[in-house]
Amino acid sequence: MASRHSATRSGFAALIGRPNVGKSTLLNRLVGERLAIISPKPQTTRHRILGVVTRPDGQVAIVDTPGIHQAKGALNKLMVNTALQAAAECDVVLFLIEAEGKSEDRLPEVGPGNRMVLERLKAIGKPTVLVVNKVDNVVKPLLLPLIDLYSKEFSFAEVMPISALKGDGVPQLLDLVVSLLPEGEAMYPSEVFTDQDERTLVAELVREQLLRHCHQEIPYSSAVVVEHFDESDREPKPGSKKKGPLAGLVRLEATIFVEREGQKAIVIGKRGAMLKTIGTDARKNIERLLGTHVFLSLRVKVEPDWSDSQNAIRKLGVGTHDS
Ligand code: GDP
Ligand code: MG
Repeated sequence: MASRHSATRSGFAALIGRPNVGKSTLLNRLVGERLAIISPKPQTTRHRILGVVTRPDGQVAIVDTPGIHQAKGALNKLMVNTALQAAAECDVVLFLIEAEGKSEDRLPEVGPGNRMVLERLKAIGKPTVLVVNKVDNVVKPLLLPLIDLYSKEFSFAEVMPISALKGDGVPQLLDLVVSLLPEGEAMYPSEVFTDQDERTLVAELVREQLLRHCHQEIPYSSAVVVEHFDESDREPKPGSKKKGPLAGLVRLEATIFVEREGQKAIVIGKRGAMLKTIGTDARKNIERLLGTHVFLSLRVKVEPDWSDSQNAIRKLGVGTHDS
């Protein structure tokens, strides 16, 4: 009997979850270190494609969503709506939570933010995978009660415990996602990993470090805008003596917008120490992204009522579609 060629699958997957559950870490794991850039091209969806994984049996485009949290203020509400809309337009939803707890004394809970999102995901009706991240960080007996708890709230297509940081369970998760996609040919050439432009990615890499180092004090709505992107020395000079994998130099100036003077002080830190840490960590990632040396200059600006200001929202180009 002739073996039938198994069909290829392709489609979109949305990463949904509260800030800090590990969405970016998982994305990097899934796409690998190859979160490379291609030249901007017309968007195929209304959402940013953060990464594309291509395999012989299928292709999945991973769609960025803003972190979900209890919506207060115009920008936050908009971000939650944007995330849920992304979910509605995707083929598979990956709902991330983090396993937590080192002792069995503390019982886990779903929390009002997650519960609200699950309610809305029910209406959306897409196959949804409960991804329990950070299992490296939890005592095993706590995992089952946590999964039970969420499974009572929502009928998940599957539950996948993973460690995005260590990579445990990530290949299995990818297999599962591909199996849940509709049959279809690949949407992107196999060398394409993302369709975001470099400026956006650079701003995102700065914001990632801002939230990473100050996430307790700085609201998720903080924004980073890249004001200058100077590529005049991007091509290495002929005969340049610089050795190593990086050649050429890109000069960047970016502004971090916060809402209050107090937040500005936190982001800058004692004698500028915090801003320096954010800048150094962001620069390393940006250098890897651009494949050049990077000179990164960061500034912090206060924009009061930032997250309530529709103007600011428009200026940032967040949520350019109606919802
Ligand atoms: P995001 O806000 O959802 O994108 O979360 P990030 O990917 O930025 O991760 C937030 C923090 O959690 C970072 O410090 C990560 O290193 C950490 N983290 C992510 N995944 C894991 C994991 O599997 N295990 C542990 N222990 N930490 C993780
Ligand atoms: Mg992130």
